[in-house]
Amino acid sequence: MNSPLYIEVAVPFPVYNTYIYKVSEQYADLIAPGVRVFVPFGSKRTTGYVLGFANKKEFKGKILSILDMLDAKPIFPKSMLPFFRWASDYYIYPIGEVIKTALPKKIDFYEQTFFSITDAGKKFIKNNKNLSTKKKILNALIKKDLTIKGLQAKSGASVPASLLYSMEKQGFLEKYSEIKGKSSFKRKIQKDRLGEKIIRDVPYPLTKEQTDVVEHINASLFNGFKTFLLAGVTGSGKTEVYMNIAARVIEKGLSVILLVPEISLMSQVERRFKARFGETVAVLHSSLAAGEKYFEWMKILNKKAKIAIGARSALFAPFDNLGAVIVDEEHDTSYKDSGGFGYNAKDLASVRAKLANAIALLGSATPSVASYYNVISSKYTGLYLKERVKKRALPNVEIIDMRKKRDLKGINKFITPELKLAIADNLKLKKQTLLFLNRRGFANLSICAQCASPLRCKQCDISLTLHQKDNVYRCHLCGYFQSANAVCNVCGNRSIKKLGFGTEKIEAVISKLFPNAKTIRIDKDATKKKGSLVTLLKRIKNKKADIIIGTQMIAKGHDFPDITLVGIICADISLNFPDFRAGEQTFQLLAQVAGRAGRGDLKGRVILQTFNPAHFAILSAKEQDFIKFYNQDIVFRKGLNYPPFSRLIQIKIESKNKEKAAKTAYSIGKLCKNLMKKTAKDSIEILGPVESPIAKIASMFRWQILVKGTNSSTLRLFANKLFFDNQKAFKVSGVKATIDVDPIFMM
Ligand SMILES: [Zn+2]
Ligand SMILES: [Zn+2]
Repeated sequence: MNSPLYIEVAVPFPVYNTYIYKVSEQYADLIAPGVRVFVPFGSKRTTGYVLGFANKKEFKGKILSILDMLDAKPIFPKSMLPFFRWASDYYIYPIGEVIKTALPKKIDFYEQTFFSITDAGKKFIKNNKNLSTKKKILNALIKKDLTIKGLQAKSGASVPASLLYSMEKQGFLEKYSEIKGKSSFKRKIQKDRLGEKIIRDVPYPLTKEQTDVVEHINASLFNGFKTFLLAGVTGSGKTEVYMNIAARVIEKGLSVILLVPEISLMSQVERRFKARFGETVAVLHSSLAAGEKYFEWMKILNKKAKIAIGARSALFAPFDNLGAVIVDEEHDTSYKDSGGFGYNAKDLASVRAKLANAIALLGSATPSVASYYNVISSKYTGLYLKERVKKRALPNVEIIDMRKKRDLKGINKFITPELKLAIADNLKLKKQTLLFLNRRGFANLSICAQCASPLRCKQCDISLTLHQKDNVYRCHLCGYFQSANAVCNVCGNRSIKKLGFGTEKIEAVISKLFPNAKTIRIDKDATKKKGSLVTLLKRIKNKKADIIIGTQMIAKGHDFPDITLVGIICADISLNFPDFRAGEQTFQLLAQVAGRAGRGDLKGRVILQTFNPAHFAILSAKEQDFIKFYNQDIVFRKGLNYPPFSRLIQIKIESKNKEKAAKTAYSIGKLCKNLMKKTAKDSIEILGPVESPIAKIASMFRWQILVKGTNSSTLRLFANKLFFDNQKAFKVSGVKATIDVDPIFMM
């Protein structure tokens, strides 16, 4: 009898320790890091993840045995464990929960190994009178194929895996694998986002600029870790660069992860990768059904796929031989997880590449300030594509100064005569027009005509937006709504002034102005029904739409060659948000929207309406010049010591009880200040506690504390000490206190 085996297990609970379990003999040969086990935990039983083998001496107290092994083979490679541990440590998030996030959601499927008896096995039963363990096992298999666990129950014997394998060698039994799960699933045929079959394509000849970039990256491939930032104007052919690098990597027998921003449908980049690389591409998308996701995951694990594409979570694709991690549209804030984990896939992409000795390639037309700062400080290598492919010109952007339009009445206040004329001209040319306004609904500000109180959400600290078609006032944060016939909830007056405008109003106005044009609207409201977005996009592609009105939903990742005019109704919406990234996000959004124009053979035109025509975010967007934007924004960041000159950790405190929220915020705030004085007086700055800019969402009162650190590792030490030494202060009943490392959503 061998001495018992011990393993280290992480459980998907909010606990920061890992646990040691005993492995009974029948699992001993099969247990390995990356395998899921079923374990007793407190009064519960749960799935756990095997991290490795453990020494009993490291653990005092009673050691329990695992109840079952759920996978015949590891579900993620051992080589990913340092990555999981790094992420858990950096984001102060339990490792079991990190792994749970990484694995496909609702992974109720697993591969099970079954044993069946052979003719030789049956002969063995006949010829052997003694009831040995071997015979007991074979007897149990006469009627039905069984798993190890089933064999154990049926035969009543302890069944060591080693015995089964020796019996297999002797030819008495055979083993095979089968996928078990809650439901069976079928694979869908590969189709693109418009439901059309993907046709295989071949590499395009590269431009001189593309060739230079590809050669530069190629020279560093398979040579250890390095991060590149590829800044290429909209339409400059970044995807073709990605595909060239990917081809090179898989040629070497290594693998590629490609991250794309979270959009409602498969992105253009994804479609092109599938067209180029076919079945060797696995897709890990949140929109996939559980079975499909499991299938794609196993395709990677079984080395059938060489490229994994997907939003944020594709970062966790279970490759153990990565050559490159590519992040498309690296500036996109959807790479930041807004749940409890709070990881930023873009930042973790570099970490994953580093731990795998691979390269990281971040690409964007509008790189983030943080990434370009890394180029300036020589942490990243900057590469540039300054021209559009096929020598297409960048669109011409005309700025309309809305301050000079204040006297205009009614419709003209937001569809200026200049924009109206441009739309009319474009309609004559039979080309498509995109009108962009990043605000949905009809009127976003409804004010009582008598007492001037705005109509506010009952559960949140914001005003309600009128949705005329649904005849309701709706809250865009929590979904609360009330009838559009409602009276003022302060004075009871019936007359409500409907100020402000959203996409729904623009649609109504445009239909009046251009009654013969085919108009469609693309925003969250218009695409609620499943499949409706696909229908709308198809109408654009098939030229069944002349004027498209949309929010940022239409600004990302689409490529419609017939759009030659883009009208930006109000460029200033996000500019005045109380957030140090407001300028950056406005610049990126405007430059991206403007970039939708003129992607075909005709030159594009953009009409940009703004109340801040001299603002550098607007002017840089006009020229699609991110360096111009960076050079001004970075001065302001330095002046206020904001990232990238410092790192931030945000402590969020929420409670349905107003006093409790405030009280907890102050008590944690006090702990912060004390710890700062004691340990890091010069390198840590505490801002707050203060009420969040949106002080209430969905009936939760919200407070925040911002911890600013000049040095990343000091800040991490500080946050760790604060959190783990003061668990009581963070775990007040009825209060949710969480830590967000490198926060992005700070409202
Ligand atoms: Zn609300
Ligand atoms: Zn009133």
